[in-house]
Formats: sequence, C-alpha cells, structure tokens
Amino acid sequence: MAGILSAIKLREAGFDDFTVYEKADRLGGTWRENTYPGIACDVPSHLYSYSFAPNPEWSHRFSPGSEIQAYFEEVADRCGVTPRIRFGSEVGRVAFSGGRWQLETKDGGRDEVDALIAATGVLHHPNIPSIEGLDRFGGALFHSARWDHAVKLDGRRVGIVGTGSTAVQIVSALVDRVAKLSLFQRTAQWIMPQENPPYSEAERAAFRRRPELLRSAYAELGSLFHAFSGGLVDADSPEMKAIERACRANLEQSVRDPMLREKLRPSYRAACKRLVMSPNFYESIQKPNAELVTDGIERVEADGVRTRDGRLHELDVLVLATGFRVDRFVRPMQVIGREGRSLDAVWSRRPSAYLSICVPGFPNFFMLNGPNGPVGNFSLIEVAELQLGYAMKLIELLRSGRCREISPSAEATARFEAERSEAARRTIWASGCRSWYLDDRGVPMSWPWTFDRFRDEMSAPKLEAFELR
Ligand code: NAP
Repeated sequence: MAGILSAIKLREAGFDDFTVYEKADRLGGTWRENTYPGIACDVPSHLYSYSFAPNPEWSHRFSPGSEIQAYFEEVADRCGVTPRIRFGSEVGRVAFSGGRWQLETKDGGRDEVDALIAATGVLHHPNIPSIEGLDRFGGALFHSARWDHAVKLDGRRVGIVGTGSTAVQIVSALVDRVAKLSLFQRTAQWIMPQENPPYSEAERAAFRRRPELLRSAYAELGSLFHAFSGGLVDADSPEMKAIERACRANLEQSVRDPMLREKLRPSYRAACKRLVMSPNFYESIQKPNAELVTDGIERVEADGVRTRDGRLHELDVLVLATGFRVDRFVRPMQVIGREGRSLDAVWSRRPSAYLSICVPGFPNFFMLNGPNGPVGNFSLIEVAELQLGYAMKLIELLRSGRCREISPSAEATARFEAERSEAARRTIWASGCRSWYLDDRGVPMSWPWTFDRFRDEMSAPKLEAFELR
C-alpha cells in the first residue's frame, strides 16, 4: 500500500529515477499475505482507499481482503507504476556511505540512491508462540498470515489459537464448514457489533456516475474516524464511554449461557486492546459445534492440544492466529547509517523515530507507518499519505540543492519521544491490559494525540528539528 503510494506520488512530483523493491512476486503487502477465510478490513472501504483513487465498486461497507488486494493492483496498473516494481527482489542491506545509500538485494543486486523510503509495513512478521510440542503436531499447522489453502477444512476438527481481530473473523467464516471448532482463548476480547451491508448495484452505479458522492463518503467517514480516535486518546472521553456501553450490551444481549458469557467477559476496559469488530462472533461461538476453551494450553501433542485441566482437544488442523512481531519494522533488513551505526543497535531497547518517520544519524531515510505512529486509530492509508507528503517536503530540499543530507537532531527526537510516551500513558491503551500496542515498558507504541494534531504536524516539517548538511 505505502510503496505503491510512494511510486505514484514521486512520479506526480516529477521524480523519474526511482525503483520499488518488492521481495515477493506480487504487490499487496498485508493483503497479499493474509488470505485467511473471512478476511476483511474493519475500516470502511470508502475510507480505506487512497484519497486520490476512490473506488465506486466496493461490494460492502467493509469489503473482503481479496477485493482490497485487487484494488491495489488495479490502482498500481492504472497509475502506471507496476512496471517500476522490481519483484522477487528482497533488500538485505542498505548502508549510507559516500553521501548516498548503497543498497544490496539478497540475490546479489546493487543500487546507489540519494534517498530511501521504507514502506515495509507494521503487521508483517508472524508471531509464532513458544508453545511446547508445536513441532510434534500430527495434523496441519500454520499461522493465519501463511494460510495453507491446500488443507481441507470442511467436516474436520479445527483449532484456533488467539482471540484477536484475525481469530474472530476466522471463527465466523469457518464455524459452519467444520465438524468441530475449538477456540483457544488466553484473554477475552470486547467485541464491538458491526454490520456489514452490501452496496446495491444502484448505489454502485450512483458512485460511478457522481464522483462527488465518493468524495463526500471519504470525507464523512474520515470525520467519524477522527472523532473516534480522538476518544481513544482520552480514556475518559464520552466516545470511550459509548464504546464501552455498546460492547457490554453486545455481550449481555448476544450470549445466552451465563457461564459462557462470563468466560467471554474481559477484565479490562473496552478498546484497551485493539477493538475487535464483528457482526456475528458471539453467534458463531454459540453454535453447537463450537467450543470456547479457556483452560490454558499446556502443550501441543500429535493428536491435538492438551489444556492445563489435562484434557486433550483432538484436532486435524491447528491455526495460530497469534499476531505479529510488531517491533521489527524495516528489519531484518540491515540498515547502516552514518559512521557505521546500525539501526538494529540504535533500536536495541525499542524502536523509535522522530515523528515516526526519520531517525537521527540516518540521513535521507524516511519510514512510512514506522515506529510509534498512529496505528490503532486511523486508516493506515491516510496515515501513509500524510507521512509521505511530509517526507517529500524533505526530499524536495535535497532535489533543490538546499542540502545533500537531512536527518532529525538527536535532541528533537528525544524531546518528541519523551512527550509522546508521557501522553501515551494517559490513553485507553495504557488502562491495564496486555496488547500488541505496548512496548517492553508497557507504554503504548502509538500516536497519543488527536488526528488534527497529526495532520498539523505532517503539514510542514519544522526545519529547526533537523540537521541539514
Ligand atoms: P493480535 O491482535 O495480536 O492477537 C493475537 C492473539 O493471539 C491474542 O488473542 C493473543 O492472546 C493470542 N496469543 C498470542 N500468543 C499466544 C500464546 N502463546 N498462547 C495463547 N494465545 C496467544 O493479532 P491479530 O488478531 O492477527 O491482529 C493483529 C492486528 O491486525 C489487529 O489488532 C488489527 O490491527 C489488524 N487486523 C485487522 C483486521 C480487521 O481490520 N478486521 C483483521 C485482522 C487483523 P492475548 O490477548 O492473551 O495476548
């Protein structure tokens, strides 16, 4: 998503000498890699689109993953950037040397560039839990982001580990197909009810005929999301209270068996973890062939999962919907800045960056959806567009000859990070739960302020925060 965006916007700005490196043989990032049953984006499709490429054809309010993948491929083709992508070309190392970035691909290719944009994603590297015996399982075993479509599911016994957004979508998609579905829950989740109506042919025709309808859908949904995210960063806001009420009512009204209801009731506040949206998760988990297993996994055995109560849950397929290693970002690529300093060493405690975009000592290096950015509260496409606009203003300084190297000062970066982590401690994400938003200190790794503040910050770089050479 962010790489295609960069290519389109660089071209528009008259940059012609650029290359997009892609390790896979197809574009699409998260939407290429995640193909699990039930996958959809819970940001409305008319907002989860490039601002400059609205799409009248979205089938649903929250369209499925395959449609999103097709959208990115179509936009890249239409904007003429697909030929600029070097597929099957994984970048292994980049080093700043002689005033430029020296780039090496894993297959021995080399390039020398003035500026680098890292559009490598956030939820990218699967988190494989260290559960004893995983390697001894006799059935099919895979992570949700590595779905094995050759494995038969119909009529079989399927186990799913995890209760995040991914697991919830898989449960609803599979429950009617499988003989038995066992959901291994370590922590209960609040579920926000969310209907997903299809767009009728008449509605799509209207979107096609009247582009202003698409523009106003984007603007209206954007305003709603910005208000919602404003609520998240203030743990006691009226928006938070409304979310809590809706989640609690959903649990009370949808789950009939009081014992099951208590097992599904989280012990922390709604939206502390990333809010899970679903029209039918509670309905699915109450089906006769579904079981919510809360006893804790002791180990995996050849025949299934043994829980701490001694019971063996016999399975043919085990899916790890256990999330991602969210502190990786551009890694495992080796990034070597000035004086041979590696990004891995600079980030040895935890990743950080000035405004989530650039790092002191790494000139002309810009990340999209980098560390501590707005991950939990906005459309990541909108975030990437704003960040790219900011980075391009800095790249413009290089093009105009105003400087040859630009990187943020260590002082400005430390000041920003201190202010950010202080504010992050007051958000709902720090209200007492374990989630992928938290760093090693338990501080949320996210933009802790409103969308308006983010947009203002992205509108123009404050050059006093940068060192220009
Ligand atoms: P996730 O939210 O990180 O959830 C991982 C799940 O695995 C959690 O329930 C976690 O339990 C469990 N888990 C991890 N290690 C475990 C272990 N050793 N034993 C038992 N359980 C374990 O991952 P995700 O569901 O893939 O979602 C990641 C993010 O992707 C989402 O938050 C969202 O931002 C995005 N996403 C969005 C959508 C959508 O738009 N609808 C769909 C999918 C993903 P604990 O809670 O106890 O840690």
